[in-house]
Amino acid sequence: MSHIFYCKKCKNYTLEKICPSCKINTVSKNPPRFSPQDHYGKYRRKLKKIQKVD
Ligand SMILES: [Zn+2]
Repeated sequence: MSHIFYCKKCKNYTLEKICPSCKINTVSKNPPRFSPQDHYGKYRRKLKKIQKVD
């Protein structure tokens, strides 16, 4: 699993956190696989259900 980074200046994709040609910070282009907030909300709902049964 490798992260793909994108340089805004030269509009190139790289595997480096620093663009090899511009020497500036690149931005991560990997989309989040899941939203932590969403996951947490699901978990809380489950907990609530269990509490209700009790
Ligand atoms: Zn660049």
